[in-house]
Amino acid sequence: MNQRTVARTIRHKGIGLHSGRDVQLEIHPAAANTGIRFVRTDLQPQAEIPAHPSFVFDTSLATRLGSPEAYVSTVEHLMAAMFGLGIDNARICVNSSEMPIVDGSSAPWLILLDEAGVEDLGVAKSIRVVKKPIEIVDSRDPSRFIRIEPSKEPRITYSIDFKNNDLIGSQSLSMSLTGRSFCEALSNARTFCTAEEVEFMRSRGLALGGSLQNAIVVSRTEGLLNSGGLRSPDEFVRHKVLDCIGDMALIGSALQGHIIAHKAGHDLHTALAKKLCEPSDAVELKAAAGTKSRSRSRLLDFPSSLSELPGFAGLNLVTG
Ligand SMILES: [Zn+2]
Repeated sequence: MNQRTVARTIRHKGIGLHSGRDVQLEIHPAAANTGIRFVRTDLQPQAEIPAHPSFVFDTSLATRLGSPEAYVSTVEHLMAAMFGLGIDNARICVNSSEMPIVDGSSAPWLILLDEAGVEDLGVAKSIRVVKKPIEIVDSRDPSRFIRIEPSKEPRITYSIDFKNNDLIGSQSLSMSLTGRSFCEALSNARTFCTAEEVEFMRSRGLALGGSLQNAIVVSRTEGLLNSGGLRSPDEFVRHKVLDCIGDMALIGSALQGHIIAHKAGHDLHTALAKKLCEPSDAVELKAAAGTKSRSRSRLLDFPSSLSELPGFAGLNLVTG
């Protein structure tokens, strides 16, 4: 497994979910071992924020990286797409504090990245191999937890339980985790919230860019408000897994272990990502077996074209 970057610069214009503001974004190629870095181009001087768990400073509505003076919010859906295509290095320039929400999933990002192409940098990727279990439990609600266990193959098992909402209810998913399985099974699952949450967020000046074009909205009295229905019956848990993968992508390496989570969220995901990056005897960091040649050849996990994948035909995209 070698490190990858984008083959050329990608540009996208969209809106921020909470700010409702226009956001311009560019994703540039970057050299091996430089990682994924966000750059706030609207600040003077520009601020560079590495995509790394040590830069997480708020997880209440989305994953926010940086500092109170210079941050970028809602990085998880693009980070998950980076995982899907195995991209380790890129410079993401953005002129706002919030990433564009696109359709609320990772699929539009995959399509943009796939269009630009992915370049193999000819340098081996690093991999974190889990040797002993690590568990993070929410101290206020011990039923919420995330754990990682040693496993021959990367795997994820995730469950949610929305007792007060029949439409979401309890859902669970367990699957082997590869770039391809992410692209095929998870990438188009959209973010979701209840109509009551939308009302509350709007009263606080949030979710100003939110609409039925970029989120699933469930009302207690009227059910699902999106006229097009769900993309899969368990789209809710699939999106939670997508969020978890996006947060785990902050570790900047491949990961060999089995993630098991129940009622988790960005707080627990990023706490585990942080632990995985700390030196300990629970995790071994090593170079993944890689090929020496620098080429743009297809790699095992990488779909040659997203149009080949099930679930992408007829996807209603809002890419701005
Ligand atoms: Zn999300």
